[in-house]
Amino acid sequence: MTRIDNRKSDQLRDIKITRDFTMYADGSVLIEAGNTKVICTAMIEEKVPPFLRGQNKGWITAEYNMLPSATHTRKTREMSRGKADGRNVEIQRLIGRALRSVVDLEKLGERTVWIDCDVIQADGGTRTASITGAFIALIDAFSKLKAKNMIDSIPLKTYVAAVSVGISNQEPLLDLCYLEDSNAEVDMNVVMTETGEIIEIQGTGEERPFKKDEFAKLMELAELGIEKLIKIQKDNSDSIII
Ligand code: UDP
Repeated sequence: MTRIDNRKSDQLRDIKITRDFTMYADGSVLIEAGNTKVICTAMIEEKVPPFLRGQNKGWITAEYNMLPSATHTRKTREMSRGKADGRNVEIQRLIGRALRSVVDLEKLGERTVWIDCDVIQADGGTRTASITGAFIALIDAFSKLKAKNMIDSIPLKTYVAAVSVGISNQEPLLDLCYLEDSNAEVDMNVVMTETGEIIEIQGTGEERPFKKDEFAKLMELAELGIEKLIKIQKDNSDSIII
């Protein structure tokens, strides 16, 4: 079967990283995965939430949103709806958990890192692109702290990236675009470290239940994609973190 954009089943979309995309954030990255485009920023605040005060530990938190014009039909702003969008909340918690799991919070000290992921164009895989891009923004933000001698070393334990995988017309595919995603029988988002350790898997039998061997095949594809994404992260960061 040929894919909509003629990719091989194990091929990522073209990834483009633009660092220092905006000027005020400590780390600011535009990540493009095919037609999906997300601005990921990291800003450091010299305080922690009340539940962590006095513990000599830092915190990472994330917010995610989409511009009204990021999708085919205009997406109403949360402000105009008057309530939080459940999908945004779900995704921002995933991003926060993914990054927090690889940060050494003690080494970070009593500081909060605010990660903001704003989707300017959505074509599938916005949450996974957010995690992959935000990680680069996080390295840049930590590098600035280190340059100011506010930390001794980059408080990251390993690299982390995320990718989507799915089964469409019985075929396991890496990095689904929107049309593939909307027709997928099975849909998964995988967050993984450099050494192939799993941070989070969101796997759904959208149109049918799936078998363990299909899950294994999807994980194989995800691991392949994440290896490539981490290589791209390394090519786009100045600091060696481990
Ligand atoms: N999408 C959309 N409007 C929405 C939510 C999603 O057009 O309100 C599209 C968009 O292209 C998105 C894709 O559906 O990237 C898949 O959405 P999903 O919720 O699976 O999250 P994602 O794959 O972006 O992480």
